[in-house]
Amino acid sequence: MKVSVDPDLCYGSAECVHRVPSVFAFEDGYGAVRPGREDSEDDPLIREAAERCPSQAITLTLDE
Ligand code: SF4
Repeated sequence: MKVSVDPDLCYGSAECVHRVPSVFAFEDGYGAVRPGREDSEDDPLIREAAERCPSQAITLTLDE
């Protein structure tokens, strides 16, 4: 599963960072995917982070 954060949509609530700190980091006031974690295992916590992102800035792309 590919994980990405759209920096144009993110407004830095940091909820994703609190929810899944192993995948998301807070950089320069915005949420970002940690380097090397763009390809992550399908994880309910990551799905929850995407669903609950208040600006819908997190995109998950399932592997074929
Ligand atoms: S939860 Fe969404 S808006 Fe908040 S920091 Fe993460 S990506 Fe940005």
